[in-house]
Amino acid sequence: MKHILMIATGGTIASRQSGRGLAPSLTGEELLEFLPDLSRICRVVVENPMSLDATDMTAQDRMQLAELIWKNYPLYDGFVIAHGTDTLSYTAALLYHVLRNFNKPVVITGAQVPLGMPDSDAEQNLIDAFKVASSAYCGVCAVLHRRIIRGNHVVKVHTTELDCFRSVNAPQAGRVDPITGKVILNIVPWLGGEPFFVEEIDPNVVLMKLIPDLDPSIITFLSKYKKVIIEGFGSGGIPVRLEKVVQKLILSGTKVYLTSQCIEGETNLHKYEVGRRAEAMGAVSLGHRSTEDALAAIMCGEL
Ligand code: ASP
Repeated sequence: MKHILMIATGGTIASRQSGRGLAPSLTGEELLEFLPDLSRICRVVVENPMSLDATDMTAQDRMQLAELIWKNYPLYDGFVIAHGTDTLSYTAALLYHVLRNFNKPVVITGAQVPLGMPDSDAEQNLIDAFKVASSAYCGVCAVLHRRIIRGNHVVKVHTTELDCFRSVNAPQAGRVDPITGKVILNIVPWLGGEPFFVEEIDPNVVLMKLIPDLDPSIITFLSKYKKVIIEGFGSGGIPVRLEKVVQKLILSGTKVYLTSQCIEGETNLHKYEVGRRAEAMGAVSLGHRSTEDALAAIMCGEL
């Protein structure tokens, strides 16, 4: 039987009404009390490193999770993280980029309705997460609403629907069959070599969303940052009226990356003049990456 480390971090899945709104309250051990049949799937040890609404989670918290997994890598067959759904995609992407060539499953799950509440999705998501953590999957993925999504393609697309995550710009890695309950893997990621851990990251990355009438002086203000992502329109590019300030930003030593406000598809700076001029200035296209994936790759120095 597989030996799994469960890491509880808070989120709706572990929340109760505080009188001032939902807030995380249950520990990992308390979550497991709702899963009496789990012992048929795997053996579980619990860690409770934090109890946060995912809105409050920083890159430092995410690195604490990554270190915990890396430290315990030899001791367990797989890992399950119970997490708030709101920034689950950022955690999935960062863990994907810092736990390289990871040849055991690291499964992140959460819920839109707290465990034990009517119509909660929490129990199903947790059971499915433990099944995937006990499977042949390699590396970081999210498991929610029967979907298995690779860590660098996870995006939350709905605030309240139970089926609120999608695999963006890549086929789903697999699913948990609703009839048989079996894990069906479409993709077991290819591993390029020995597992290693990226210990140092630089979280000082800024993301700015363009609006059609953005005040150019806001871009000037960004020169105190070394890495700036500009989320533009469609295939990507810089509006003519912002070209001068963006050029100045790049010349001052800030690296400027361009992505798109479209969730699906890729940033292609070759298609339009506004894109080609941006590229000629030195802006770098983020291609098909989601914002979360791009942020994590930049923090890790891959881009
Ligand atoms: N605000 C909650 C959180 O992200 C939402 C959730 O878990 O679904 O922690």
